[in-house]
Amino acid sequence: MIEMQNVSKMYPNGTIGLKDINLSFDKGEFIVIVGRSGAGKSTLLRSINRLHEISEGDIRIDNRSITKAKGKELRSIRRDVGMIFQNFNLVKRATVMRNVLSGRVGYHSTLRTVLGLFPKADQQLAYNALQRVGIGEKAWTRADQLSGGQQQRVSIARALAQEAKIILADEPVASLDPMTTRQVMDDLRRINQELGITMVVNLHFIDLAREYATRIVGLRAGELVYDGPVEEATDEV
Ligand code: ADP
Ligand code: ADP
Repeated sequence: MIEMQNVSKMYPNGTIGLKDINLSFDKGEFIVIVGRSGAGKSTLLRSINRLHEISEGDIRIDNRSITKAKGKELRSIRRDVGMIFQNFNLVKRATVMRNVLSGRVGYHSTLRTVLGLFPKADQQLAYNALQRVGIGEKAWTRADQLSGGQQQRVSIARALAQEAKIILADEPVASLDPMTTRQVMDDLRRINQELGITMVVNLHFIDLAREYATRIVGLRAGELVYDGPVEEATDEV
């Protein structure tokens, strides 16, 4: 599903983000990437759907190189990848419905999107996605009127409405309280199990990683220091 071959990333100022990473993730895995702040977790995730360019190596998604893709091909690969961020990345003053549909093709700042005119079939798809994360009744609420946990569920629903095959989540629970953290992680696990969507999630708490992951990847200073089952991951990774 995702293959990284000899991936290195150096930032323009010379900072090493990733050093010669080789990883291969299969469909349906729930991968948690752990490591201290600055270890390269975010750099790794952003490299996968090419939010930034890598310096060396190749990344393939479903056997298509995203590293080399351009234009239509790049958009087509990215359509398979949903992204969830620590700070939700929602359009705060827009409705939940508009936010959920914003991941779909043809919804980038078109007039009908701004006016909130959505075809019935798309509305139904958005409702289904919202219901999966338990907030179907919030469809017409403004995003900034929801709690943090609810906002993060909207961003999960956005990935579902996009019909992503892979979800990349960069510290998705870092700004949530312990109870909400658990609810959001449970949602991700349920989606992973029910829909078979591959999850790649950055977390900085190893205990949470152990509880939800099917596989743990450990990074330290941009290098791969662990890749394996949950049981053998020590607190050091
Ligand atoms: P993590 O997500 O594990 O906290 P990051 O991937 O954000 O780690 O950072 C990895 C390394 O890259 C750190 O040394 C960080 O300071 C550096 N880094 C991250 N983003 C940038 C950037 N835009 N410019 C320069 N260095 C960066
Ligand atoms: P099954 O094959 O067990 O019936 P699926 O996982 O194919 O179940 O789908 C269950 C429901 O979830 C269906 O209503 C389907 O339309 C919906 N669904 C499947 N994949 C997605 C997705 N990526 N995003 C949103 N809804 C989906």
